Amino acid sequence: MDIKEYSNGEITVLWKAEKCIHAGVCVKSLPEVYNPKERPWIKPENATSAAIIEQVSNCPSGALSIKPIIKIEREDNGKKGRFVIYENDEFAGEMTYTWAGESKFIIDHTGVEEKFGGKGFGNKLLMQSVEYARKKDIKIIPLCPFAKKVFDKDDSIKDVRA
Ligand code: SF4
Repeated sequence: MDIKEYSNGEITVLWKAEKCIHAGVCVKSLPEVYNPKERPWIKPENATSAAIIEQVSNCPSGALSIKPIIKIEREDNGKKGRFVIYENDEFAGEMTYTWAGESKFIIDHTGVEEKFGGKGFGNKLLMQSVEYARKKDIKIIPLCPFAKKVFDKDDSIKDVRA
């Protein structure tokens, strides 16, 4: 499905053309943002993020939505740590690890909340750990079955495997 993105620097509006029933609710409520005669037809910079979020929730077809903000943070106490993924500041999953010396860690568990399943968050967590390992010149022992499966399949991350 073709999804177009329009950002005001804070939030990004997604529009699925195929879903739009052209009811014009958006044009009526925020004409300064939605103008089908202009290109781009959505200009989110012309209203506050709050006004846009409110309006998007009134789109009758679901053609409009707000792109979720995904972030990954790392926590570490010197012995153990974890990469934590959030969607719109809500906890969505984690990948935990245990240090095995100074230059290696063991990924022991990966878990994604059921609600956030099917979004590739496990992979995102793993790629974040790979990026971290490369930056710090450390190696990963993938004990967690999910991490091991990805490492076994993906040759492009072999360089960080212990
Ligand atoms: S409110 Fe939704 S369905 Fe109506 S025109 Fe706008 S995008 Fe399309």
